Amino acid sequence: MRSWITDAQNTWCPGCGNFSIQHALKAVLDDLADEGHPPETFVLVSGIGCHAKIADYMNMNTFYSIHGRGTAAAAGIKLARPDLTVISCAGDGDAYAEGLDHLIFGAKRNTDITVIVHDNRVYGLTTGQYTPTSKMGFPGRSTPAGVRESPINPLEVMLASGATFVARGYTRQMDHLKSILKAAILHRGFSFVDVLQICATYNNLTDYYNERIYLLDGNDTGDFDAAFRTAREWDYSSDAPIALGIFYRQEAPSDIWGPPGTVSAEQRREEIGRILQEKI
Ligand code: SF4
Repeated sequence: MRSWITDAQNTWCPGCGNFSIQHALKAVLDDLADEGHPPETFVLVSGIGCHAKIADYMNMNTFYSIHGRGTAAAAGIKLARPDLTVISCAGDGDAYAEGLDHLIFGAKRNTDITVIVHDNRVYGLTTGQYTPTSKMGFPGRSTPAGVRESPINPLEVMLASGATFVARGYTRQMDHLKSILKAAILHRGFSFVDVLQICATYNNLTDYYNERIYLLDGNDTGDFDAAFRTAREWDYSSDAPIALGIFYRQEAPSDIWGPPGTVSAEQRREEIGRILQEKI
């Protein structure tokens, strides 16, 4: 097996769900490399937050974006180098608060990237403030009396925005998570995976998830209305069953703006190189 893990000191808390996502991703990239995708053609973009350290810990091409801009950075990389496979890891605060507009437009344009949200439903790096997916009543550091807002449902948002691959995984269902991540990366178009992640320190929902999750089996992933209904079963706050799996998958033209059609990949690379030479 290739060495996908760097020797950087890992500062994630013991039991953190980030480890599961990192190892699921590592296994998928290794599979894909075995199947003929050269490791150097993968690019991993991260945002800001605990999840973002994955850019330091994965031994591959990585790019640390600023807060919430992972989708935009990933889209830019894909635009410049359509031959690369671009994966954007984001946190739930990162993607659904600071970066929500970029996420929506990535989906709207069906940009050919994969967005993996490490959704622990708390700002872990800044010690426990609520995020857009924290449940109603969550007693975070910034809301000691409990959050008074309802959480957003990111799957509904992504379906409504035009994402052509919408899925949900869970860090304590590793094999299932790997299968979802692999399908997402291989999907041509905007792939979105919300991963329910344990924050061992500030929001450990292990028991809550374990009691409610179920795996989708035999659902028609081409049925948009059915996907929407399934996405609405659980609102990120209630005690309803929580579906895991691929909710929706559809082939559709990617990137309505697209890279400049009259410019070859070689010309584009030369032009980008020239701009970088001038600016850096
Ligand atoms: S604070 Fe939470 S998300 Fe951050 S490293 Fe610790 S367990 Fe993981």
